[in-house]
Amino acid sequence: MKSALFTISIDDGHPLDLKIAELLKRYDIPATFYIPHQNSEGHPVLHTSALCELAKHFEIGSHTLDHKALTHLTDKQAWEQIIKGKQELEDRIGFAIQGFSYPLGEQNPVHRKMVQTAGFHYARTTNNLHLQTGDDCYALPTTVQFFPHQRQVLLRNYFKQGELSQRYPAFKICMNNACILDRVTHLFDYAMHEHQVFHLWCHSLDLEKYNLWSMLDIVCRHIAEKTQPEQRVTNFKLTQLMSSSPKSHESNTEFA
Ligand SMILES: [Zn+2]
Repeated sequence: MKSALFTISIDDGHPLDLKIAELLKRYDIPATFYIPHQNSEGHPVLHTSALCELAKHFEIGSHTLDHKALTHLTDKQAWEQIIKGKQELEDRIGFAIQGFSYPLGEQNPVHRKMVQTAGFHYARTTNNLHLQTGDDCYALPTTVQFFPHQRQVLLRNYFKQGELSQRYPAFKICMNNACILDRVTHLFDYAMHEHQVFHLWCHSLDLEKYNLWSMLDIVCRHIAEKTQPEQRVTNFKLTQLMSSSPKSHESNTEFA
């Protein structure tokens, strides 16, 4: 994929997601909100009426039934979380959804297959520091979380997740910019300059907890100024472009 693209996803369906939605609408930025039916961690989830309003303007994806890490469950329980989360969400909004995000990013090949079998078209992980979509649409990576991570956390994640040379450019920019605002804008500028993909993700509860609202506003204004509307896409649109990209086509041909 050679065109510079921006996408943003928001996890957990907290009522404060509506505040992010207002901000994104102001800058004409599409987004994908991943919603669990309920949150076993005790956080509230958007009511159906608010969810339906959100679905008029943004992509809605599933984040399981109860927001439970799939790797902590039996296969049967994981399947129920995946399939029932999809059915409940579709019943609430009244139409089929395409996307799924793994709670806490926890998943393995069995879960990826389950998500595909359940009828999802793609799934997002929390793997970070990627500036490309990769080849597996059931393991869609991200670039960076809008969260004030300490350098040692980034360093630990960098080595834990592997693909070090591929992730090095984004890692270096993160390590050189301690402030989340500088980190995200510099990463974004680099991705656009290199015709890559920039995938930002966040939780609205973190924005509230760490007082990041004004920073997200600045970032969104920056993105809106530096991109054309067609460069700003939902996660689903990104995966559609990914499957139609020459690189993906070539690899499909190899297996044909
Ligand atoms: Zn989550």
